[in-house]
Amino acid sequence: MQALYDVIVIGAGPAGYVAAIRAAQLGLKTACIDDFVGKDGKPALGGTCLNVGCIPSKALLESSQQFHALQHSFKDHGISAGEPTMDVGVMVARKDKIVKQLTGGIGMLFKANKVQSIAGRGKLLSGKRVEVTRHDGTVETLSASHIILASGSVPIQIPGLPFDGKHIVDNVGALDFDVVPRRFGVIGAGVIGLEMGSVWKRLGAEVTILEALPDFLGSCDADIARIAAREFKKQGLDIKLGCKVNAAEVRGEEVHVGYTDAKGEPQTIVVDRLLVAVGRRAHTRGLLADDAGVSLNPRGQIEVDEHNRTSADDVWAIGDCVRGPMLAHRGSEEGIAVAERIAGKAGHVNLDTIPWVIYTEPEVAWVGKTEKECKDAGIPVRTGSFPFAAIGRAMAMNETCGQVKIVAHADTDRVLGVHMIGPMVSELIAECVVAMEFQASSEDLARICHAHPTLSEAVHEAALAVDKRAIHRVN
Ligand code: FAD
Ligand code: NAD
Repeated sequence: MQALYDVIVIGAGPAGYVAAIRAAQLGLKTACIDDFVGKDGKPALGGTCLNVGCIPSKALLESSQQFHALQHSFKDHGISAGEPTMDVGVMVARKDKIVKQLTGGIGMLFKANKVQSIAGRGKLLSGKRVEVTRHDGTVETLSASHIILASGSVPIQIPGLPFDGKHIVDNVGALDFDVVPRRFGVIGAGVIGLEMGSVWKRLGAEVTILEALPDFLGSCDADIARIAAREFKKQGLDIKLGCKVNAAEVRGEEVHVGYTDAKGEPQTIVVDRLLVAVGRRAHTRGLLADDAGVSLNPRGQIEVDEHNRTSADDVWAIGDCVRGPMLAHRGSEEGIAVAERIAGKAGHVNLDTIPWVIYTEPEVAWVGKTEKECKDAGIPVRTGSFPFAAIGRAMAMNETCGQVKIVAHADTDRVLGVHMIGPMVSELIAECVVAMEFQASSEDLARICHAHPTLSEAVHEAALAVDKRAIHRVN
């Protein structure tokens, strides 16, 4: 069969839509199939990230932070106002407007780049054919020289705690409460649990987070996790570690959650809304025909090599449906790299320098290895830390909590990881990603002129501190 397209992408999240645009930019005839339907019942591009993930959660984090600042920190600046109130409906409508603007923007980018956008469900058949089932039920078969699978991920459900969309919810439900729950329970003290817990806590909910593991933020650097735990506790987030949740039962308007605590004692909490945020899994249901030739790994992810090639010829997979951190920017970079490889160029993604950010207050950000990971791997390291409390700009902003920590190789001084907690560290981490991509040493960072007064001076000083020569603190 003559291929209809050069490239068909299944999934229009940040991995798939970026791959489609890059492929089209490179002159490839490209179609992108996506089945997501927005709150208004219409097809919406952008996947989890734009519709029910990164963007709406950040919109709510921003609104709730403004409300919290008005209540708690404006007075330090001498600003007073009447009793602040929060109209949750307006906050959610603002979030929906941002989502609509961005998802609509992808549609415009597709048009401008001549990407054929197809609303419906795609299933990979053998021979690089894709069966498309449109939302009206009509079915057609398309073909392409290359297929890119970018079907994303879905929340993991705990047996005995089925989502009902109202009382027991996943990320979708937790982004759309119409009132602030008086008691908000969260299962999982991971990224979603902490971000959504923060939103509703700032708006007045009593928040209890039940985490199965004994350590808090186990994948973060231990110093950063310790500061985060202290700050979140101060904010009133009740994070209970080492808890095994057994079951939850909706009784009227309440959810009764049974769990075993860290001492093995049975406990119950009663909440008005329960968010289950215990991780996500690759979304591959109905994606692959039996003879499609694409293998899954034991975790149910699509198996790929270092260049995102699957086990089927000219079939590629990117983003949350494959190994690697489930982050929008990782998927987008893979999308660009794969499109470039298809076009005969040299696309590449360095999975060792993918930055992580948790958009709590203070924010947490890191790239590369933690001090413990280095030590466990037998890598000798020197570290340098610098607190925001000694940074003038942070004081002016009234946001002095946190620090920057740099982990460098003890012999070569190469930067192996940077770990931050504090104001706007989501932005500060970019400099460190660049440094690591260019294989910088901590001395390189220390010798670069940083503007004064800025938060980035904390990075500069932490780099100086690796060599025990920070200026604005005693080494
Ligand atoms: P997705 O965004 O999941 O997109 C996949 C798309 O494919 C979806 O539209 C899906 O409906 C569609 N699809 C699936 N199967 C088919 C099929 N067979 N046919 C047609 N279409 C199909 N990451 C960050 O980097 N920063 C953040 O701040 C952040 N915040 C988050 C907050 C929340 C609440 C959540 C849930 C996630 C967050 N993430 C964040 C993670 C981020 O959303 C994902 O890593 C990212 O969306 C993955 O992109 P993707 O393109 O691989 O998949
Ligand atoms: P997560 O992996 O970040 O956290 C899940 C937490 O739930 C873990 O701490 C885990 O130990 C705990 N857990 C697992 N099973 C449990 C159980 N039965 N009882 C109690 N706790 C349990 O997953 P998430 O928060 O659901 O988010 C999914 C993914 O989405 C993240 O890993 C991340 O990749 C992405 N995300 C990123 C951002 C961001 O970049 N800012 C924000 C939200 C989501």
